[in-house]
Amino acid sequence: MKMQKEMKKYCPKCKKHEIHGVGIYKKGKDRKAAEGARRHAEDKKGYGGQKFPELKRTAKTTKKITLRYTCKTCKRQTMKEGMRLRKLEIQ
Ligand SMILES: [Zn+2]
Repeated sequence: MKMQKEMKKYCPKCKKHEIHGVGIYKKGKDRKAAEGARRHAEDKKGYGGQKFPELKRTAKTTKKITLRYTCKTCKRQTMKEGMRLRKLEIQ
């Protein structure tokens, strides 16, 4: 799918349609010492440590892409989740 670099879209902060920049959201790096990560590591320890079946191969052939819109006037960022695409081109 092809997307334009800028588009006019409703901004919840300006409360009207403004020009937004379009980008792709990327997940940040996981912290190793986060509470959930430490708990998970503790759960996996020892004999029979795996709590749920490990995913060997996924059924899906695509990944969900989250778009991030940035308002050019107030810099407010909004996201649009959940588009399954093989490939996204921003031009
Ligand atoms: Zn705005």
